[in-house]
Amino acid sequence: MPTITLRLELHKPTKVKQEMYERMTEVNTEFANWLLDHPELNQATSKIFKEFSSQRFPSAIACQTIRDVKSQRKHQKAKKFRKQWCCFNNQNWKVERKGEFYTVSFPTLEKRVGVPVVTRPYQEAWLNRLLDGTAKQGAAKLYKKKKKWFLALSITFEEEPCKGEKIMGVDLGLRYIAVASIGTKSLFFKGNQCAFIRRRYAALRRKLQKAKKLRAVRKIGNKESRWMKDVNHKISRQIVNFALANGVGVIRMEDLTGIRKRATSMKEAGRNLHSWAFHQLQTMIAYKAEMSGIRVEWVNPTYTSQTCRCGYRDKGNRNGIHFQCQKCGYTIHVDLNGAINIAKAISGWSA
Ligand SMILES: [Zn+2]
Repeated sequence: MPTITLRLELHKPTKVKQEMYERMTEVNTEFANWLLDHPELNQATSKIFKEFSSQRFPSAIACQTIRDVKSQRKHQKAKKFRKQWCCFNNQNWKVERKGEFYTVSFPTLEKRVGVPVVTRPYQEAWLNRLLDGTAKQGAAKLYKKKKKWFLALSITFEEEPCKGEKIMGVDLGLRYIAVASIGTKSLFFKGNQCAFIRRRYAALRRKLQKAKKLRAVRKIGNKESRWMKDVNHKISRQIVNFALANGVGVIRMEDLTGIRKRATSMKEAGRNLHSWAFHQLQTMIAYKAEMSGIRVEWVNPTYTSQTCRCGYRDKGNRNGIHFQCQKCGYTIHVDLNGAINIAKAISGWSA
């Protein structure tokens, strides 16, 4: 069964909480290093922690650390642990939904409470699958990166929840407003209408660069946004009709909600500037699809355009509109490759 890792940031933990997580990590690291030299490590149970220290510490974390140290020692990997983050096995953490938010509870030095986490739609889809039992939870890890605390949750699932169901991937971009792919069939939204859109986008970009503020987006006249809405209505209708005509059961799109923070390529930078337009188009596709009984899934957008069908990922694989794999030589239109990867949800499988 494939496994994915969801990395969820804890939503504004208090200073006291952060200090507690810090302390837990410190104790856990010392405990791991102490275990490494313990002569009876192989017979150790969580009770061995009492030998190490008299302070209170969740036995669930101690258990997991003992397991990790055992396997590290077996493979003679670690001489000393620099940091041993607190880990919890599948029975020791729990996701809950509280209204619009999700919380995760796990053992700490204090009373166990659900901690709110920051989620993106594609992550929420996975959390919902945990809640409805269509995916299984594995281990979880509490760790800090760039002064922020995260939970890494590992989740396993059946490869194809509905066997034989046709899946369509939709890639959004500037060169082509949308590229839809179903198996060997594809649909490119180009032509005059899109050339017009691109010119509009170019003008808008120049305008925004002059203004140097994204706030300028909001100042775009009602006229233009009405026009954009109309275009998006038409494209989304055509995409959903294309899906219906081909018996598609699932439409997959990239979850672009986090793109703003890390525009690393032209494609992403472009999508960032026009995120309002793309967001609107995605929302319309999703709405029309669901009205037609087609399920919508959101996938992790990372690396969709850089990954080859052979699995090789490299920035150098893409060159403008051309995709050429540096390893196997496979060539394809870069946006179509993106749409195909979205359909396969290839990026969602990465950690
Ligand atoms: Zn390749």
